[in-house]
Amino acid sequence: MHSRRTISELEADLVAVEAKITELRSEQHVLVRELEYAQAPQSDGSRSMVDYVQARLDIKRDTAKDLVFAARRFVHHRGIHDRMLYRGATFDRTVAAVKLADSGATSDVVTDSYRQDLAGVGRLAANTRRVTSADERQVFTERYFTIQPNLDESRYQMWGEAPGVIGRTIEKAICERADEMRQTAGDLPSSRGQRQLDALGVMAIDSLGGSTADGSSTGQVTVFIDTRHDNPTDTTAVIEYGPRVGPDALEEIMCGGRVQIIGLDTSGIPVVTSPATRTIPPAIRHTVAHRDGVCVIDGCVSLYRLEPHHITRFTDSGSHHPNNLATLCWYHHHVAIHGNGYHIDQDSPPHRRRLTQGPPPRGSPRACG
Ligand SMILES: [Zn+2]
Ligand SMILES: [Zn+2]
Repeated sequence: MHSRRTISELEADLVAVEAKITELRSEQHVLVRELEYAQAPQSDGSRSMVDYVQARLDIKRDTAKDLVFAARRFVHHRGIHDRMLYRGATFDRTVAAVKLADSGATSDVVTDSYRQDLAGVGRLAANTRRVTSADERQVFTERYFTIQPNLDESRYQMWGEAPGVIGRTIEKAICERADEMRQTAGDLPSSRGQRQLDALGVMAIDSLGGSTADGSSTGQVTVFIDTRHDNPTDTTAVIEYGPRVGPDALEEIMCGGRVQIIGLDTSGIPVVTSPATRTIPPAIRHTVAHRDGVCVIDGCVSLYRLEPHHITRFTDSGSHHPNNLATLCWYHHHVAIHGNGYHIDQDSPPHRRRLTQGPPPRGSPRACG
């Protein structure tokens, strides 16, 4: 009969498997060393050995970094390496110990470190570490930034690596901008990471003198819509020379610029073309800006890129009438409303508007005060 295994038996197996992983990583780091010696990344078009290992093995960047580090440094620390080969230290433990030894720690400190948890060893190495000018040059040489859209450009990913001072500068600028947005516009539920991305976005808009890549604040935008979908709330549109956007982004563009919409049939032939007049007339823009003066959301004191917004969506037959327009700061307009899907509560007072997450206002809006 099959009896249930005890926790200590299972644990022993778990540890035994880790020992096998360490053995395999150990084989891998030797191969990585040989590949680096053979200059494999150059033949592969990779920027660095880490990029090469990450791409070839399809593993996390940290794991690739550890393997490359092991390939370069294990040979210089025989004693620590032997402890992995013959005395059961894991690969991760060995990487941490070699990093600590590289930071200038004495062999006694390294030996003691085997009793600490891995995070503690990492902190110890960081505190012991002296940065040589060779280190600095290496970090500088390996600096990079990548920004990569997916196939239809509806999403972008970005990542990179920077020398300490410039990395800290970038971080500080983004965090300060995110804090500033939160203080002036109030705190809608969003994570720290989301606020930082919003901040990075407005920094880019500022750098372009106020326009976004779709040109909505400066010029005319041409949008192609597939006419097979007749429900306007399901619309997926493609901006000319630009990304694929959904109904929310389309509505956002409508608030900002002159939009010409071209409807395409199944074979991609234009069947309807709207006149390029779907824009808020300048006189009305000025009237609304003059009337409101600030962002109309209750409690908001932000003056950052004030813009008119359609209270009833333009695509839900909301008009350019001043009563259907409200002045919003960039944050409330783009992050809260068009991004997070909040709407202006039509029952709130015109200059102390509240946001709601109910269904969007439809039909003709009631006259303001
Ligand atoms: Zn809007
Ligand atoms: Zn606001």
